[in-house]
Amino acid sequence: MMYKIPKNDQVIIAIRDVMARYKVVNSQKKLKELVERELNSGGENYQVGERRMRLLAIKEGIAQVEVYSRETEQQKTGITKCPVCESKLKKSRNQTVFGGTVTLAHTCPTCTYWTGMKRRVPVRYVFTIKRR
Ligand SMILES: [Zn+2]
Repeated sequence: MMYKIPKNDQVIIAIRDVMARYKVVNSQKKLKELVERELNSGGENYQVGERRMRLLAIKEGIAQVEVYSRETEQQKTGITKCPVCESKLKKSRNQTVFGGTVTLAHTCPTCTYWTGMKRRVPVRYVFTIKRR
């Protein structure tokens, strides 16, 4: 069966409606299901990508996202952008005994993603309606 790609405006309205109704949605897959149900309430066949939906929810200020991640064995190298919301990550440094500083972690100022010396990958998202 053919499916259609919804416009940004349609996705934004659907996310707003879903978040207004549920307040908290505790997985990205679940949010996608609810948003697609909303988009398809008139019998259409829309599908929305999880990443696109997440970025719209965050960037449009509809939802706050809490990120659960797990540590990998990979070294964190050259990470500057948040893998969750694309914000620029902030470095947090610690003083060493020799008076220098060392970058310990990168944290996102927008969502709750952070990574230490070893790269952390997001495994689960919890969306909470953003109060204005
Ligand atoms: Zn982020």
